[in-house]
Amino acid sequence: MQLSPHFALSELVASQKAAQLGIDNTPPPELLPRLVRVAEMLERIRSTLNVPITVTSGYRCNALNTAVGSRNTSDHPQGHAVDFVAPGFGTPTEIAKILAPLVDALGIGQILLEGVKGKQWVHVSTHAPENAINRVLTITDAGTVPGIIGLA
Ligand SMILES: [Zn+2]
Repeated sequence: MQLSPHFALSELVASQKAAQLGIDNTPPPELLPRLVRVAEMLERIRSTLNVPITVTSGYRCNALNTAVGSRNTSDHPQGHAVDFVAPGFGTPTEIAKILAPLVDALGIGQILLEGVKGKQWVHVSTHAPENAINRVLTITDAGTVPGIIGLA
């Protein structure tokens, strides 16, 4: 099922972890409109970066979200968020620095530059946090800071 010109539902629900653990990560039908909104946000990001985007994690059912060690307040189980990389454009740090000033124009509710143990990705959500300071953050093992801080 195609959600937008360049993004299929299968890309937004694919998970190696779910496959390993035998978790059915099929979203409930009522979340599909949210995933369409996410795909439309990804289209705007794709146009801005002018390269293909690889979604590394999209919708996560609660069981999968717990299995990957995410908070239960995460936007992933709500169908609002995706993690992605776009190596054709640059590093996640470079991508986040380009997108952060454009959040209003691109309809990005929240953007996070996230990293653990040498692995980095950009998290974007259609859902804006209550507190505006949390709209653009860098999150690593060392903690959470406002803004996009370059990760080596
Ligand atoms: Zn995420």
